[in-house]
Amino acid sequence: MSKIDLEAELVAAIAAVRGAASVCQSVQKNLVTAATLEKKDKSPVTVADFASQALVCAALADSSKIHEVVGEENAAELREAGAEATRDKVVHHVRGVRGADVSVDQALGWIDLGGVTPDGSLERYWTLDPIDGTKGFLRGEQYAIALGLIEKGRVVLGVLGCPNLEGPDGRPGCLLAAVRGRGATIQPLSATGDAGRKSIRVSDITSTTAARFCESVESGHSDQDQSAQIAADLGIHEEPVRVDSQCKYAIVARGEAQIYLRLPTRKDYREKIWDHAAGLVVVEEAGGRVTDVRGNDLDFGHGRKLETNAGVIATNGPIHDAVLASVARFVDVG
Ligand code: AMP
Ligand code: MG
Repeated sequence: MSKIDLEAELVAAIAAVRGAASVCQSVQKNLVTAATLEKKDKSPVTVADFASQALVCAALADSSKIHEVVGEENAAELREAGAEATRDKVVHHVRGVRGADVSVDQALGWIDLGGVTPDGSLERYWTLDPIDGTKGFLRGEQYAIALGLIEKGRVVLGVLGCPNLEGPDGRPGCLLAAVRGRGATIQPLSATGDAGRKSIRVSDITSTTAARFCESVESGHSDQDQSAQIAADLGIHEEPVRVDSQCKYAIVARGEAQIYLRLPTRKDYREKIWDHAAGLVVVEEAGGRVTDVRGNDLDFGHGRKLETNAGVIATNGPIHDAVLASVARFVDVG
């Protein structure tokens, strides 16, 4: 396997996520209104999702040595008759970043660059969630642009753009990044270059009674009845921090919570690789630990899903085994 320069890939990934985040922020500000919320109108998130994927894939095509992207979206839906209005909005936002001369075909082509399905022969690829936490996006709350680099089934680099999560400057918007073996950092999302970048560490507590835990806002994504039982079992008194998207990994990585519980709501659900790759490496490089509910490492080498894992448990590390023991008491880990 050829060598790549991970620092150069990190610079490319950060630039890609920043460009996409700027579009997501403007769509959330301008299109998500009380009217769309009430109608449960999902079109703003659809537009931002496609534009975000197009921009990340275009930026990686320009600046990364790795051109395979396993993204959540592909452009087939936008090529269908009846999708013209959405397609025009997507292209408009892509042009806002890449220039007025971008053609419709070029924009759709960038989205399709993210349509790779990895098989055993592909040793290295990006995985992208252009908007993780679409429900949070539509509620005007937390979401993330999540980009991870997988090598032989392991995540080696991750970038999380979190437009509504408070940054180190006290203002909304932060970007977390990690390279395997080289630590995790945070900086304001709007910063340029390395400006304002700081290392982050998980909390160092060793007793679960002092812990805070976080979980999905959506009860369909993680079993909140079981997490309440586990929290009581661990002597946790504080209410859970409920947050959409991989912002949960960000919160654990910077020590604001010590546990992230993602407990399967269905036996047959398999987590998607883009929902966890970036967050996992950020938490691990901040000193934490991430496994599934059985205590197994997450194995990113089985295509688009974590086929051999069930659920996710992320912690600061020292309390991980205690959390797993409690999980085993309340969850059928099969
Ligand atoms: P969160 O914001 O943490 O609730 O997670 C959002 C992600 O949950 C989405 O990107 C989906 O891919 C994923 N998701 C959808 N259905 C389920 C499910 N039944 N269990 C776990 N995750 C799910
Ligand atoms: Mg997602």
